[in-house]
Amino acid sequence: MFTVTLIGRDMQPKFTWNIKRSHGVIASFCLVTIMCFPREKKILTTENQQLAAQVTQQTALLETLRDLDLACERDMHRLIAHSHIPVLDAGSSKPMACETLARRARDLTLRLGDLDAYFVDVNWVLSNTPSVTPIAHRKITSSFGQRQDPFDNHFVWHKGLDLSGRMGTPVVASADGSVVFAGWRGGYGKIVVIDHGFGIQTHYGHLHTIDVAEGDAVRRGDQIAEIGSTGRSTAPHLHYEVRRYGLPVDPKNYLLD
Ligand SMILES: [Zn+2]
Repeated sequence: MFTVTLIGRDMQPKFTWNIKRSHGVIASFCLVTIMCFPREKKILTTENQQLAAQVTQQTALLETLRDLDLACERDMHRLIAHSHIPVLDAGSSKPMACETLARRARDLTLRLGDLDAYFVDVNWVLSNTPSVTPIAHRKITSSFGQRQDPFDNHFVWHKGLDLSGRMGTPVVASADGSVVFAGWRGGYGKIVVIDHGFGIQTHYGHLHTIDVAEGDAVRRGDQIAEIGSTGRSTAPHLHYEVRRYGLPVDPKNYLLD
């Protein structure tokens, strides 16, 4: 049992109320709720205001994004109009969809990548294919093919070209490659052999001096030796051979200068 007493301003009891314990608990709960409600209301009001501000902000952002999207679409159509690319789907009068355009752009990029790789390969092959005369002034004194040997007058197969030149005339590589032999080899005398890849080698014989060593990488036009008359030779000249997969071929077909 609880006793509730109301006291007046004169500090005298005005009213006394005896209530049961269970009713007292309920009354206390209600009293606390009533006292706390204004504070909770204030907090909820503040939170609601903050949420409302956020919603306003997000709405404004969405509007801006929508405007940007429309502007992008307008710019894209303007670009398409200026670029003169077909923008209609095949067999349709409808403008090509953005996804289709993007797919075509990706396809074109891939094809450009393939073309780029192809031209890199072509450049590689070209730079490694013999194409210049190995000495500055081309004067052929003996061609590729059957000829009379200058030593014993027998008919033999001449495996290369003889290019005449003064002793000491610079000899250059006719293409990019790597030196696979530099030294003395029988009737060739002092000789340089360059491997150009793709089954092609060039041979430079009867040299006076050799300016490269085995394993050296050379570029087209690099000096590799000087004209001489070493080995089976009657006068200073360059014996120049081109071999494909080991077989001598006419070097004239590789003189493009
Ligand atoms: Zn020769």
